Amino acid sequence: MSKNKHDRWDVAPWEALRVGPDFDLAAFDRASTPGWDGDKDDAETAMAARGAELAELQERLYAEGRAGGGRGVLCVIQGLDTAGEGGIVRHVMGLVDPQGVTIRAFGVPTEEERAHHYLWRIRNALPQPGRIGVFDRSHYEDVLVVRVDELVPEDVWRPRFDEINAFEQEITAQGFTVLKFALMVSYEEQGIRLMERLDRPDKHWKYSPGDLKTRAKWDAYQEAYADVFRRTSTDVAPWYVLPADKKWYPRLAVTEILAHTLKTLNPQWPTGDFDVAEQRRLLAATMATSTLKASLEETDPSLTEAIQQKRELLKER
Ligand code: AMP
Ligand code: MG
Repeated sequence: MSKNKHDRWDVAPWEALRVGPDFDLAAFDRASTPGWDGDKDDAETAMAARGAELAELQERLYAEGRAGGGRGVLCVIQGLDTAGEGGIVRHVMGLVDPQGVTIRAFGVPTEEERAHHYLWRIRNALPQPGRIGVFDRSHYEDVLVVRVDELVPEDVWRPRFDEINAFEQEITAQGFTVLKFALMVSYEEQGIRLMERLDRPDKHWKYSPGDLKTRAKWDAYQEAYADVFRRTSTDVAPWYVLPADKKWYPRLAVTEILAHTLKTLNPQWPTGDFDVAEQRRLLAATMATSTLKASLEETDPSLTEAIQQKRELLKER
């Protein structure tokens, strides 16, 4: 990749972060910034630069969906408490039109949800075509918290890895591109972030005494996450594991991977099913000459056809 002020990737993040067969969560440095040789300021500059591009790509995907296209993107975001899922949603999805984004958070299943298969609420939450769907937690909780807290026996959760792979394969065949992001903080950094939540009264709402019970099961969660990456990082739906001790890094990396994914999908502006020149003539007939003149003056110089026709229509007045 070329390097300049806005682009300090040595290795593209979709390559550097993608879980391969050799991935080792135990050895994963959560303060690292894989592939990126810039600092926080560079990252913020790069993210802002990518934002405009991401916004246009997302609008094209949305337009494609409105015109009958069946494609969509689903971002699954997983992480332990304080890993920063909310920050990803705010900072990355904040770069695009909120109308094109569907955000869904999954907590402890409701009574109704518990009465159904665990994928029922997930299927119901899949985004409309043309949308970017974001799952803050997901069906992976059903092989993470459910496993660690022994909410069901192993012979129930163990087969879910294959079932999840089949589900993701199925929705990919339907037109979804599935991106799975896991935010991994270190034990120490989680301690600091939880302490900050206690220190600041405006953060108490984010804290729950239960967070300490979850923290006490750190090793069991790491083991459960390692299995998730081993068993469910597939060609159609790979995992990207993001070191999250530096908050700016996963935000930048998710922005880049999402933009890259949309670029690869290459959604196109739909063409109208009407005769533009005829519509322009009919519309012009409803406008005062002075208004039509003003419209001509405001026309982008690159839109030569429009300029030419408006000139002709004005001549006829
Ligand atoms: P929070 O994201 O802090 O609002 O917490 C949501 C909580 O819901 C977390 O403690 C999750 O582990 C829990 N949760 C999410 N999905 C499930 C599930 N399928 N079964 C049990 N607990 C879940
Ligand atoms: Mg929480």
